[in-house]
Amino acid sequence: MIAGFDRPDAVLAGIESRTSSPLRIPRDEHMESPVRGLFPCGEGAGYAGGITSAAMDGLKTGEELIRRFAPF
Ligand SMILES: Cc1cc2nc3c(=O)[nH]c(=O)nc-3n(C[C@H](O)[C@H](O)[C@H](O)COP(=O)(O)OP(=O)(O)OC[C@H]3O[C@@H](n4cnc5c(N)ncnc54)[C@H](O)[C@@H]3O)c2cc1C
Repeated sequence: MIAGFDRPDAVLAGIESRTSSPLRIPRDEHMESPVRGLFPCGEGAGYAGGITSAAMDGLKTGEELIRRFAPF
């Protein structure tokens, strides 16, 4: 449907079909999992679906780590 996308001489057309993580590692309000000391975050942990949401989740998790281990 998109002009210039599907060409007769194309060898392979790749579509982006992957979705984000189908699982989510549980964590509490301080970003810590039931496995104490483990702070799952980002896409692989099931808390993000793209670059910006992964970055924001990492930022929030980092702030929790600072609050816990290096408060100022
Ligand atoms: C082809 C493709 C296109 C995409 N396009 C877009 C887009 O246009 N816009 C958008 O918003 N999102 C896009 N995404 C999604 C986006 O890239 C991810 O959601 C985002 O990068 C997730 O960030 P993350 O930090 O959670 O994980 P990642 O960026 O995957 O970072 C995980 C890191 O952990 C490291 N690691 C893994 N295992 C270990 C280990 N055992 N020890 C040490 N390090 C380890 C890896 O090397 C990696 O550096 C795309 C993804 C793909 C695959």
